[in-house]
Amino acid sequence: MKNGALHIVGLSGGKDSTATLLLAIDRLGRENVRPVFADTGNEHPETYAYLEYLEESLGIHVVRLKPDFSEEIAKKRMFVARDRRRGRDKRGDKIRWSNKAKRRALAVLQSTGNPFLDLCLLKGRFPTNRARFCTEWLKRDTFVEYVDNVIQQEGRPVVVWQGIRRDESDKRKNAKKIERVGHKYYNFRPIVDWTVEEVFWCIASHGLDPNPLYATLGRVGCAPCIYATKGDVRLLAGSNPIIERVRDWERLVGQASKKGFAAFFQGKELAGTKPGEVSDLVFWERHQIDGILTWAAKAGPFMKEDWGHAGDDGPRCGSEMGLCGD
Ligand code: SF4
Repeated sequence: MKNGALHIVGLSGGKDSTATLLLAIDRLGRENVRPVFADTGNEHPETYAYLEYLEESLGIHVVRLKPDFSEEIAKKRMFVARDRRRGRDKRGDKIRWSNKAKRRALAVLQSTGNPFLDLCLLKGRFPTNRARFCTEWLKRDTFVEYVDNVIQQEGRPVVVWQGIRRDESDKRKNAKKIERVGHKYYNFRPIVDWTVEEVFWCIASHGLDPNPLYATLGRVGCAPCIYATKGDVRLLAGSNPIIERVRDWERLVGQASKKGFAAFFQGKELAGTKPGEVSDLVFWERHQIDGILTWAAKAGPFMKEDWGHAGDDGPRCGSEMGLCGD
């Protein structure tokens, strides 16, 4: 597949995509490999540092993609400002933005340049398991658009090297090693049948360290991720800059929403706080970061039902392209 094709490695900063990058460089030479990282703007600082470490150690340049939502946000501003719709929704609330909500939202509805925050400002909420627009908009679509542009502009076939393993999850157990995605577009998964031990061994045998997050959080991805477990929240509680950022984002996204509230972990459905069981105010208070920190600090084992749909073994992040932490 070397003749004329461009080889792109989808890099997440995690172990699997790092091992995949090393294999690509071994086979093709670093000048024939283009590592591409889709930056959500909500990555752990250790991951940004790790990308620099890989660049220095391997003598490569990692392409960083950052989606830009400024046009969509400008359109939403216009829509909110001009909204004169009539009628009510299923709950009996007016569809139209009230003048108070308009003033509140228009004060913050502008692009900040941070993709994760801008997407949440645009949606007026944070993503959840049922509405996982973060992976879709910030990772998958951004990456596919980039590959499509390369094919159009450079006219070369593109082989995307993906760090995906079959034993990671049921969803991936039938993953193919090679797949044609479209015209001049192929996926190649060289470590599809590897074990986790082989992945770490591959990194060590190249004289490199894995992302240091494996020694603390045990995983790589957003900080926080909507799938954070109680254990993850306890660990992140020690990082003031991350907690401060989440607090700030909740304030801004809440202002940009019609309801006036938003919570990073709104999808968690803490025990006894499902919508309808408590008032809206109590729901938001318990699910905003300070409520979550108080809850996570409580002694006792982590019960499956505490986190609604998931215990510490519940669903985890992981895009089908291996771009979202591994
Ligand atoms: S790591 Fe988590 S929060 Fe980040 S894009 Fe993936 S699912 Fe969303």
